[in-house]
Amino acid sequence: MTELATPPTEQQADVKRINHWIGGRSVAGDSGRSGPVYNPARGKQTGAVDFASTEEVDRAVQAAKAAFPAWRAMSLSRKSSILFRIRELVFQHKDDIARILTSEHGKVFSDAQGEVARGLEVVEFCCGIPELLKGGYTEQASTGIDVYSIRQPLGVVGGITPFNFPAMVPMWMWAPAIACGNTFVLKPSEKDPSASVFTADLLKEAGVPDGVFNVVHGDKVAVDALLQHPDVVAISFVGSTPIARYVYETATNNGKRCQALGGAKNHMIVLPDADIDMAADAAVSAGYGSAGERCMAVSMIVAVGHAADELVDAIKERLPKVKVGDGMQADSEMGPLITREHREKVAAYVENAPSEGASVVVDGRDGAPDGGGFFLAPSLLDNVKPGTKAYDDEIFGPVLGITRVDTYEEAVRLVNENPYGNGTAIFTRDGGVARQFQFEVQAGMVGVNVPIPVPVAYYSFGGWKNSLFGDLHIYGPEGIDFYTRGKVVTSRWPDPATSKVDLGFPQTR
Ligand code: NAD
Repeated sequence: MTELATPPTEQQADVKRINHWIGGRSVAGDSGRSGPVYNPARGKQTGAVDFASTEEVDRAVQAAKAAFPAWRAMSLSRKSSILFRIRELVFQHKDDIARILTSEHGKVFSDAQGEVARGLEVVEFCCGIPELLKGGYTEQASTGIDVYSIRQPLGVVGGITPFNFPAMVPMWMWAPAIACGNTFVLKPSEKDPSASVFTADLLKEAGVPDGVFNVVHGDKVAVDALLQHPDVVAISFVGSTPIARYVYETATNNGKRCQALGGAKNHMIVLPDADIDMAADAAVSAGYGSAGERCMAVSMIVAVGHAADELVDAIKERLPKVKVGDGMQADSEMGPLITREHREKVAAYVENAPSEGASVVVDGRDGAPDGGGFFLAPSLLDNVKPGTKAYDDEIFGPVLGITRVDTYEEAVRLVNENPYGNGTAIFTRDGGVARQFQFEVQAGMVGVNVPIPVPVAYYSFGGWKNSLFGDLHIYGPEGIDFYTRGKVVTSRWPDPATSKVDLGFPQTR
């Protein structure tokens, strides 16, 4: 096996201290609180991340507030050049960022490279910010009167992100936020925080003025400080559903605009006419990629009619070939889970499946590599029924469930009755049924023979039901709307010939 590189976090010391980034520089925390960061493949602590106090969050918000007027006033062409420069620097350092992701999150290096690449697409979209902020103009709306619309930034905005995409999800937020002229305070996941500080340094090098982009680490204390801060005007959140709901309610109760993306239970329907090999490849890739720790992972397969037996056999045949190992080993396809506790929690779903009436077709607890890492090999459960924990919970690990139904209608009903509505997919050769599915399914992102339908950067990402609290999806056109406010100007230049007193409601003439 080839070792690709040593993660930078481990070259320097056994346990590295991970600081905040406030006002354009690295700032050591002074709250006296910190959290452990692990290399999940080795099960060893590699970092200690500072946890911000309310006062430290306030310092970051004040830095962002001070930077706002000048950043807002900077021309779009200069902002756009800075975004192009950010794009170049992130691109140049994509493998450095990917190594950091693998060392703290555990996902395999190629998957980490993919994460950076998908995040970069959002930065590339934002390089076109002059075009994206273009308003409308109506000449002579009334005699001598012109009307035009503009979009303006909000001010200081906050972003709170999950552990599973430590580079991409922050990019979904900070790129459009700062492109629109806001200043930004990021609270990344405390489990894998280093990519955010690494990126902060790149943004500075790209010419982002000090204070425009800040990072505070921490837990609920830091999150609550952002949610309650009077100078923070909007909050973007991505994470689990209970915290998303809490963040949305707290932020909006405090008068803030909020988009809070939550968890998921993504169903993939396989119809009897589907290409079973293609569906099995897709199910394995989407179910076990990133060890199932993706909000768009397929976690339930709804197999219709005779597709079920064929699919179980096809997936079962593929699973022993999935290479589980340290993400820095070139041949690893699936890495460990994020923490030991999470690994135990996921393993318990497999343990308890028989008592809930499901059968364990492949038991991943048997195939995990030895050593101290938080590994769990792929598991496959069959006959998983709604109302059981394995069906209802977002497992967020390498456990794929199959539920069997007789008809397409039953399959769609299962998806539509599920409280989550992030992504879903249908595998079929029948275009008419696929079109009907797209028409009636209750989910925000739909794949037709595509298992992980994450929208490209010029569309927006977001689920329905318990997968999103708020009105606007993230990145793409809705991201631009979220980070700006509209203004309409009605203008007349002095023309003494048409000036008179008129107390009636203005009418167009
Ligand atoms: P999480 O909800 O535990 O944490 C997300 C963020 O909230 C972190 O920054 C964390 O520090 C903070 N947080 C945690 N507990 C908190 C509390 N009690 N009060 C205030 N803040 C708190 O989520 P996670 O485990 O980091 O990430 C996995 C979850 O994120 C999964 O549910 C996954 O589906 C979801 N996710 C959703 C999307 C999406 O686009 N819908 C994308 C990625 C991940």
